[in-house]
Amino acid sequence: MKDLSRRSFLRAAIGVTIVGATSSVISLFAPGKLKAASAATDMQPGGFPDGYDPFAHLFSYVIDLKKCIGCGSCVRACKKENDVPDEFYRTWVERYQKGRDRPVEIDSPDGGLYGFPSSTAGTEGVSKAYYVPKMCNHCAQTPCVQVCPFSATYLSPDGLVLVDGERCMGCGYCVQACPYASRFLNPRTKTADKCTWCYHRISRGLRPACVQACPTGTRMFGDVKDPYDPVRHIIDTERIGVLQPQMLTKPKCYYIGLDKEVR
Ligand code: SF4
Ligand code: SF4
Ligand code: SF4
Repeated sequence: MKDLSRRSFLRAAIGVTIVGATSSVISLFAPGKLKAASAATDMQPGGFPDGYDPFAHLFSYVIDLKKCIGCGSCVRACKKENDVPDEFYRTWVERYQKGRDRPVEIDSPDGGLYGFPSSTAGTEGVSKAYYVPKMCNHCAQTPCVQVCPFSATYLSPDGLVLVDGERCMGCGYCVQACPYASRFLNPRTKTADKCTWCYHRISRGLRPACVQACPTGTRMFGDVKDPYDPVRHIIDTERIGVLQPQMLTKPKCYYIGLDKEVR
């Protein structure tokens, strides 16, 4: 069980300002660190399976926006797989609707959990509508890692940004620092929470739950260290984009068919 009173005390002790809270992170990883993380909320009990070498992989995620139908299967699968609390999301789907004489309308009712009802603004004048699944981008240059005063969030050698639930004090600095609104404070664990690319699954050779659940193949996951991996081939050969490239966060979640108004 987490030591919540210690967490509350430390949170109060550091509750001053986010400025100056930056830690010299980025390369926090050490084998012992990953072991510690395996006992945290991001991991299944028991740690890594025998034979998993995080240095042997570099994972990436591709979302093909031409294929998404907004069904919400991915959101439901993520909720179930990761026991995500009500009204919080590790992944969500947004709907964009635009037309020549109307502003771009963006909505995401219940994170797209139940699909999308008719637009409140109606469809008159809509010339283009599409869906954009979102989640943590597992950025290579991560503001969320940089601001954590406890080094509880870190870059893993296989390309993921993870949270060590044993170290996290729930101060919420990382939640504020993420430009993609990908993090939240889990009301049950009182720690930072977000997409882990289903680390407990991928470290056992399984696909993330959302990828497995997607009926259209919109969501793809792969290892760019594998020269024969289809995701690596897409990244190498197709026109791909990332969310908010101006933030210089170097996301490892890539989009096919990304329109300029998506933010
Ligand atoms: S999307 Fe947000 S939470 Fe995820 S790695 Fe990037 S900055 Fe951190
Ligand atoms: S990879 Fe796993 S944790 Fe991340 S959005 Fe998909 S199902 Fe949720
Ligand atoms: S399951 Fe696939 S098609 Fe359905 S909303 Fe999610 S990404 Fe889009």
